[in-house]
Amino acid sequence: MNQVTKSSSASSLLYIDDLSSANLDYLLKTAALFKKEFYKTGSLIHCINPEQTKGMVVQLLFAEPSTRTRASFEVACGKLGIATTSLWNLHFSSMAKGETLEDTFQCLMALKPNMIVCRCGELKAIEVFLHSSSIPVISAGMGTKEHPTQALVDAFTIQEKRGKVEGEKVLIVGDVLHSRVANSNLRLLIRLGAQLGVCAPEALSPADKQAWKDVIRFSSLEEGIKWADVIMCLRVQRERHSLRNIGFSMAEYRDHYRIDQENMQMFRSDGILLHPGPAVRGVEIANQALNDPRCHIITQVENGTHVRSAIISLMLNLEIKSL
Ligand code: ASP
Repeated sequence: MNQVTKSSSASSLLYIDDLSSANLDYLLKTAALFKKEFYKTGSLIHCINPEQTKGMVVQLLFAEPSTRTRASFEVACGKLGIATTSLWNLHFSSMAKGETLEDTFQCLMALKPNMIVCRCGELKAIEVFLHSSSIPVISAGMGTKEHPTQALVDAFTIQEKRGKVEGEKVLIVGDVLHSRVANSNLRLLIRLGAQLGVCAPEALSPADKQAWKDVIRFSSLEEGIKWADVIMCLRVQRERHSLRNIGFSMAEYRDHYRIDQENMQMFRSDGILLHPGPAVRGVEIANQALNDPRCHIITQVENGTHVRSAIISLMLNLEIKSL
């Protein structure tokens, strides 16, 4: 029997710290249960009482590009019998007519969906507004600040493939400065007892030195790879560099920070390579490294839907059956 006990339901999930330790435990266990049941039966609907989700609608609003996160939220809702409606091409929304994001949110909330999933830039007014919403809101990534559901997917994948998160040495490589994934992972993985290392060009290193003070800095990628159990490679967020001169070319970046066949030879044989996606082939990861059996990027995508089904269950207070 895989019964999971839920503590309290979180009212909104904008940051990792919105989740209690009991919530984290619930999410990791429920995602594992969902993955196992889905493998066995090809469905999740038997894990819940379908009467509970009948007639439920989740509204998605994506004000920044997305493939995996948006699709996996839609699939995760569908597997629980929840309908979704999605607003993502904002050129065809009232925002193109001059409406503010806050007013757009207010309008969507007036439609009374059961929950809102949103990806948007980092705006204090929006954060305050979303946090005080009477409808549960899940952040699907906010500017460079946080991406809590991706960090949960990463922690789940580490636990699944390495057997545990506690004590694991996780090396984060690349554009940490602009990465909401890195910021959420910093908070989550440290809470779960992992050790963190970082290898990044100076211009893309974390700006919040205090938050990253317990993280080991590696100036050489090889040194970091020899130390690590898990490599978490990040995308170079070129769309966020427009106002900054980062002081090096992509060719220089590739020469010093790309994960390739050569440096993968220095990585432990049972280590795992992760990337939240989309990975830019040749720049952050070479083709051979993407084909290496230690690369679990597609597993992360697959786990994304199970972890998000668990998050939706928590936020909507769904009862999970004892199986
Ligand atoms: N998909 C992740 C995000 O939305 C990572 C990335 O875009 O680089 O933050």
